[in-house]
Amino acid sequence: MRSFTLPQGVDALLITNLHNVRYLSGFTGSNAMLLLFGGTDAILYTDPRYTVQSARQATCKIRVATGTLAKAVLQDVARRKVVKLGFEQEHLSFAQVEGLRKALPSRAELVGLSGAIETLRMVKDAGEIARIRASVQTNSKALAQALKKLKVGMTEAEFAAEIDYQSRKLGAEGPAFDTIVAAGERAALPHAHPGPTKIGPGMLLIDMGAFQDGYASDMTRMVHLGPAKPKFRQAYRAVLEAQLAAIDAIRPGVKTSVVDKAARDVLKGYGMDKQFIHSTGHGLGLEIHEPPRIGRKDKTVLLEGMAITVEPGIYIEGWGGIRIEDTVLVTAGGCEILTPTSKELREL
Ligand code: ZN
Ligand code: ZN
Repeated sequence: MRSFTLPQGVDALLITNLHNVRYLSGFTGSNAMLLLFGGTDAILYTDPRYTVQSARQATCKIRVATGTLAKAVLQDVARRKVVKLGFEQEHLSFAQVEGLRKALPSRAELVGLSGAIETLRMVKDAGEIARIRASVQTNSKALAQALKKLKVGMTEAEFAAEIDYQSRKLGAEGPAFDTIVAAGERAALPHAHPGPTKIGPGMLLIDMGAFQDGYASDMTRMVHLGPAKPKFRQAYRAVLEAQLAAIDAIRPGVKTSVVDKAARDVLKGYGMDKQFIHSTGHGLGLEIHEPPRIGRKDKTVLLEGMAITVEPGIYIEGWGGIRIEDTVLVTAGGCEILTPTSKELREL
């Protein structure tokens, strides 16, 4: 159990987001709530399917509920005389909040809180960093293995399946998100879903991530089947330069918007900033997308131990798109690019 300091104004905090439950208690089951009283004083609620697993994974008090978890929580709220019960307002439905409110002991009230655990999760500890490193290694090895099988005429869906297969064989629990394989002009869709399109001579965008030991990796690489034309080469160079400029800007104390601007300014120099239609990156960890966001208006200050992606891209309808993405760790002196896969333009 991780030690947790309660925010001011609450006597207990109810955690209902399962990633946050896992982060704090270590429990990975699919049905759980966690009631925090401060420090390591906490109660984990789950159902009888998880009696054995919860006892193995969590060191805090555990209540295996035979009714609803909320009912068991409410019993402890009454028993522990909680007056102000905090809850995660992003992670409880309106119906759940209303249900809790009606069943609360008469003196008690609900206090909605936002991002209390997500803020802590931004900075990774040594164990988390080790897991992200392992996930990144698996992801890069999976791409290298899958590329050995890549042939003109294969469909996007077949190649995506090959990537997922290799990733699992190398130790991933599964993909961190639906693997993106976009051939030719379909690369203009930043979140293209791999389909029956045949991979032809031309550009191929691959965006892939693994979950390993609960932690995500994320990488985008371009390959070009057959020799690339000058327009592709120039655009590739521009995106790579933008990506390197953003990485160069990463160090503790820098606002994420500054990192985003570094990438955007390079693309502006190439007249391509209008084609860069998303933010430069995002945090990752137990989830593939978690704070901080690396966007134009994001003011989060980078801290040592944050794990983020850097992934500028350009998208041109009818032509295609280019994105290059690494997983990066903020270190005391700047940053470390965790992704080992080369970013040199690969023509197969
Ligand atoms: Zn990605
Ligand atoms: Zn990403």
